[in-house]
Amino acid sequence: DEMDVDTIWMDGEFVDWDDAQVHVLTHGLHYGSGVFEGARCYDTEEGPAIFRWEEHLERLFQSAKPYEMDIDYTKEELTEATKALIQRQELPSCYIRPVAFYGYNSLGVSPADCPTRTAIAVWPWGAYLGEEALEEGIDVMISSWRKHASSQVPTNAKTTGLYVNSMLAGEEARRNGYAEALVLNKEGNVAEGPGENVFLVRDGEIYTPGLSESILDGITRDSVIEIAEDLGYTVHDNVSISRGELNTADELFFTGSAAEVTPIRKIDNVVIGDGSRGPITEDIQSRFFDIVERKTDAYDEWFEYV
Ligand code: PMP
Repeated sequence: DEMDVDTIWMDGEFVDWDDAQVHVLTHGLHYGSGVFEGARCYDTEEGPAIFRWEEHLERLFQSAKPYEMDIDYTKEELTEATKALIQRQELPSCYIRPVAFYGYNSLGVSPADCPTRTAIAVWPWGAYLGEEALEEGIDVMISSWRKHASSQVPTNAKTTGLYVNSMLAGEEARRNGYAEALVLNKEGNVAEGPGENVFLVRDGEIYTPGLSESILDGITRDSVIEIAEDLGYTVHDNVSISRGELNTADELFFTGSAAEVTPIRKIDNVVIGDGSRGPITEDIQSRFFDIVERKTDAYDEWFEYV
């Protein structure tokens, strides 16, 4: 809960949580012109450790590019601010939300006159889809909404406005009694979850939609591919996955900074595998948690210690 935190970093300054506000005519509010990140900082024996912070920062700056947005702070300054937020609020672990957006000036669609605003918030956040989801898996609904195509918007840029699609899909799923949605792309192939990439296991090998399938280039996706390969699995990460392949999968799971590695046990009420977390999912998931909790020395280059 947000009770344990009282400070947000905004445009170079630490401000009280309640004072971190913007004008109602902020460009980003009207046109969705913001870019953001979601990263996790884990509780380890070495203190709080941010998982793949470099990659998250890099993606934030890359996301800004198609929108010609100049973030006024360097990666070093954003890192310093983030670490300070974690330290001063004494958080052993947390979620980290950096956001940069066009602010208030004139209200035309062109952001040319708008300042770029930048903020970072951190707060304690447990398992995104619930602790039980990590063990039992979740029920997922194929959304009636399609993912926006990469020919319409840069889907590899983590842009605030694009998340109306995620919101529609996720809420539709929850209204229908599912924990989460799975969104197909314009071609009708598997794209991703509202805030997760998706993996499929068949005959002992692992498949995940390629970057040309209108997905976000997930950092957990990238990590899981490397972890799975290091565990000896064959990973096909540049494929199209048809809707029908979901039903016949041996295992399915979601990955994401928030969702971590979450098994999927049903798609549209069709049971996947035997309806519980599959063995390969479990293998990768347990390795993932050993890594992020620093129970192994391996992959140390993935961590930014606070
Ligand atoms: N796809 C979408 C649409 C997302 O919002 C996210 C979460 N950032 C992901 C995939 C997973 O990406 P990551 O592993 O970098 O969090």
